[in-house]
Amino acid sequence: MKKVSIVIPTFNEEGNLQLLADTLLKEISTLPYLFEIIFVDDGSTDATLEILKTLNKSNSIFNYIKFARNYGHQNALKAGIDNSVGDCVISMDADLQHPPTLIADLLQHWEKGYIVVYTKRISTESVGYLKKQTSKLFYKIINILSNLELEEGTADFRLMDNKICDIIRNAKEVEIFFRAYIKAAGFKQIGINYVASKRFSGQTKYSFKKMLNLAFIAITSFSVKPLHFAAYLGLTFAFGSILFFPYIIYSLATGHAVSGWASLLVTIVFFGGVQLFVLGIIGIYIGKIFQQVKQQPHYSIEETSLHELNRFT
Ligand code: UDP
Ligand code: MG
Repeated sequence: MKKVSIVIPTFNEEGNLQLLADTLLKEISTLPYLFEIIFVDDGSTDATLEILKTLNKSNSIFNYIKFARNYGHQNALKAGIDNSVGDCVISMDADLQHPPTLIADLLQHWEKGYIVVYTKRISTESVGYLKKQTSKLFYKIINILSNLELEEGTADFRLMDNKICDIIRNAKEVEIFFRAYIKAAGFKQIGINYVASKRFSGQTKYSFKKMLNLAFIAITSFSVKPLHFAAYLGLTFAFGSILFFPYIIYSLATGHAVSGWASLLVTIVFFGGVQLFVLGIIGIYIGKIFQQVKQQPHYSIEETSLHELNRFT
């Protein structure tokens, strides 16, 4: 029988785990595969770890990896994939927004030969207006600034064949943005639609700060276009400044003193802003080089229930 690993990044999800575990068990019990379920506790401060330990005791299909601190969702995903031994990995969220009922569908497409089966959220009624709009904007910006065409509504709910998991396991990049990384890897990929449900319990773990951070990682991971953008912006303003010449000549000719310090101030502030912005972009790239050179680990594991002997038994 083929082996399937389900990887679930989990950050303070105490209210969701029991229901998720029950739903998953019900769902996979009818499927002709061997399963292992790996929860990656991304440094939770609530009862998440205790619940995961209890689940592991009740059924060895449930396993956990506990991070020494919060490393973020994408690194939790990487840890899950790194430590999985299935023929494919299905990644999903812990808050029941990714319906376990779709697992059978994902596996069917895998059997047809697809290396990646990703999912697209079609209805986002349960998601707030702001989240919907920022998500839209996010994909628009990423697609403009990178050379990839990511589809809106694709989250980290997907099936990945071992072929692609091996690429991820070997990835040296410190900041991985999975959606783009997997898209860029090629292979036969297909998307299936699903309706996202409401988060079952708790609040979103993606604060605005985390989202903004992810957006920067996403954009700067896959493209140096923002650097070009900086150059173009500089060039545009340099040429734009030529437009001042007629005004200067006019002022000189009419003997009309330059009266407005206000316009001067605005110009200085504006160009100061542009310079800082461009410097910021360059800074982000340099920061990435710095991190890469340091060869920082993606995560550190404090404890885990995964041991060679108890895999898929
Ligand atoms: N998550 C994580 N580490 C983090 C933030 C989130 O492991 O630093 C997990 C979280 O527990 C959930 C998944 O990533 O299983 C997606 O997070 P969330 O549901 O909060 O994001 P949203 O659906 O609101 O975009
Ligand atoms: Mg969610």
